[in-house]
Amino acid sequence: MFERRTTRQINVGKVLVGGGSPITVQSMTTTKTADVEGTLQQIYALAAAGCDIVRCTCNEQEAAEGLAQIVPRSPIPIIADIHHQYKMALAAMEAGVHGLRLNPGNIRKPEHIKAVASEARDRNLPIRIGVNGGSLDPSLYEKYGGLTAAAMVESAMQEIAYFNEVDFNLIKISVKASNVPLMVEAYRMLADATDIPLHLGVTEAGPPPAGLVKATAGIATLLLEGIGDTIRYSLTADPVEEARAGRQLLEALGLRERKNVDLIACPSCGRAEVDVIEIANKAMKAFEDKKLPLQIAVMGCVVNGPGEAREADLGIAAGNKRGHLFVKGRNVAVVPEDEMVEALVEWAEFINEHGTDAAIARADTVKAEREAQRDRSELLNEKGDDANRAQEKIVEIRKTIEN
Ligand code: SF4
Repeated sequence: MFERRTTRQINVGKVLVGGGSPITVQSMTTTKTADVEGTLQQIYALAAAGCDIVRCTCNEQEAAEGLAQIVPRSPIPIIADIHHQYKMALAAMEAGVHGLRLNPGNIRKPEHIKAVASEARDRNLPIRIGVNGGSLDPSLYEKYGGLTAAAMVESAMQEIAYFNEVDFNLIKISVKASNVPLMVEAYRMLADATDIPLHLGVTEAGPPPAGLVKATAGIATLLLEGIGDTIRYSLTADPVEEARAGRQLLEALGLRERKNVDLIACPSCGRAEVDVIEIANKAMKAFEDKKLPLQIAVMGCVVNGPGEAREADLGIAAGNKRGHLFVKGRNVAVVPEDEMVEALVEWAEFINEHGTDAAIARADTVKAEREAQRDRSELLNEKGDDANRAQEKIVEIRKTIEN
């Protein structure tokens, strides 16, 4: 086995990066971030495919406002991708994201970089310095006579120097290029120069299978040298394929354990009807020794749970002291709250043997949907349609952008 490079540790929400923690898989949504429901569905599909951290673009005010609603309902930490406008970084932090990605080639005014880093420092949020070969600062391009590994590393170092000026050090770095040998060289140089955790990727790798080969060539080479703390496949494909590829690579290299039941759970926002962590832990325990290759979701409320986790083979969502079971997003049965885990196990075993279609066919889906609708309406009456008080955050986002 190869020795991993020793790096500092940071946390992106509840996920640790660097410092010997498991290497994580990242991906990026392709929906418009303002499309809250569509983005959440994609995030759940990504989480089910093995994605640990997801990035959403925050390119306009509507995206920041969408993030205010998405973040409390996302099962995995969210990083806002910022391009040209530093105010979008401030707005994304207001929305509650778990981290930012800044491209030093795009936001170049030192006062803007420092304003973002100061705010991130005060909120204890990490920033990835995402250097991209395709959008390198033109002055560095000129200085090095083109795109070189040293130019990309210098771009990252310049950004770190601005961060240091305001005492900000919760940093990850990436130096991505679409040229594999160039990207490998840049990461090797960075690994020699700093102990900051590194996010690996080959940018614009293209569609599979060529994109998969390219990305694997770059990422696997570095991982086998012990370099890299988190990875992303950038494919011209459904992002679920990126997450799957990342996960499979880590498993193939023995860097992440193979899973049996892939249990995903919602983060339990203001709508939660049960202690999601407790139920998820109980379910985890119940499935521990069962070799069931299924994705199973534990969701805090029936208002959004079955829709958010519609990609899962099986799931359960709480509501009004009852558990609503769903298969591929279709409501199939209702059980008392204290029988949720037992019911999950029974349905999971049935699906494992007969498949999801047979599970849907054996259910009275009309009745199950009617019951779910009843509980959904009652919960909406009780808590209103803004249980996460996203509107308050949106007011703050508007003030941030107007100032
Ligand atoms: S409680 Fe409901 S809305 Fe909140 S994150 Fe869980 S499933 Fe989504």
